[in-house]
Amino acid sequence: MRKFIYLDHNATTPTDPDVVRAMTPYFNELYGNPSSIYQFAQQAQEAREQAREKVAKILNAKPEEIFFTSGGTEAINLAIKGVAVRERGNHIISSRIEHPAAVNTCKWLERQGFNLTYIGVDKYGIVDLDALRDAITDKTVLVTIMHANNVIGTIQPIKEIGELLQKVNEDRRTKNRPGIYFHTDAVQTVGKLNTDVRDLGVDLLSLSSHKFYGPKGIGALFIRKGTEIESLIHGGHHERGRRAGTENIPGIVGLGRACEIAMQKQDEERLKALRDRLEQAIVEKIDDCLINGHPEKRLGGTLSICVKYVEGESMVLNLDYEGIAVSSGSACSSDSLEPSPVLLSLGISPEIAQGSIRFSFGKDNTEEDIDYVMEVLPRIVQKLRAISPFGSLQ
Ligand code: PLP
Repeated sequence: MRKFIYLDHNATTPTDPDVVRAMTPYFNELYGNPSSIYQFAQQAQEAREQAREKVAKILNAKPEEIFFTSGGTEAINLAIKGVAVRERGNHIISSRIEHPAAVNTCKWLERQGFNLTYIGVDKYGIVDLDALRDAITDKTVLVTIMHANNVIGTIQPIKEIGELLQKVNEDRRTKNRPGIYFHTDAVQTVGKLNTDVRDLGVDLLSLSSHKFYGPKGIGALFIRKGTEIESLIHGGHHERGRRAGTENIPGIVGLGRACEIAMQKQDEERLKALRDRLEQAIVEKIDDCLINGHPEKRLGGTLSICVKYVEGESMVLNLDYEGIAVSSGSACSSDSLEPSPVLLSLGISPEIAQGSIRFSFGKDNTEEDIDYVMEVLPRIVQKLRAISPFGSLQ
């Protein structure tokens, strides 16, 4: 049988069989609309509320602070636009390495007349805290910085940013002025790292189920009690008026179960060991490679590399031919041949950034998978360099 090794878990993960089992009855047995008042439908409502408690638990939030959405992108849109349109000011601070879900939401707000500041990062992808502090003005209403980056895995100092904003907000309180809200896109960290919202000091946090063995098309936004936010989808009174539309109950149940499983089984250290094994082997066996992201403050299962003198897409296609699924950047930009803006923000040149590939590990990966990658990757790189106009100059 043809080998298949999946090493693209930052793009999506397989739904855990336990999660599928938990969801199944809500398709064709307990299919009631949770808004209906008869007993049959109440079962769906109960399942929704139990799931809400499970999501709240993984974030150390209160269940009434959790709002279900159709995924990470919608949660991020709701957080950023929802705060912006409350007209408490018109300045928003973000970073240069956010996911397109946040970047394009911010760009849209710019077109509506909002002022945006995009904070730069160092060569490892960590946001510059001094620049962030300096960017705050009297008009700032929101800071939105992702928890961990999907391309390079770098983890941001969210707690420190939270503390910084808390000081600014204490000062604003004495002047009777509204505070700055803090949102984090935690799509790549929920289920992997500590995402205790009290600990992180965030007011809003976005998450997505399919990144940690839950189903696709379901996510949630944590909204700290008291946060002033406008809803974006209007209709019925679902999700306490914050997000209208009949709820995706199987998805919600699946998300709840995925949170429960993630809390029981922490896999970060094992994934880190696998990642380090591959990283070390690549550095030893392939010349002219660059490891992207922070050496330590990085998601355990993420390895982004730039291989000089070859194109990332060609490596992805050649690895695919050998039965290995990886990505050349983020899945969301895989239809674009532009180098990843995240890599460019680190100061990597466009020519080198073109040669990037990302391996991201998950619960079913083993050391044998790594060994197989190392069986084929050096050969692929050698072949591509031999036909590359850059490679032939060596
Ligand atoms: N934010 C980050 C960091 C992501 O990696 C992704 C997905 O790739 C998203 C947001 C979007 O989440 P979703 O696919 O649930 O819309």
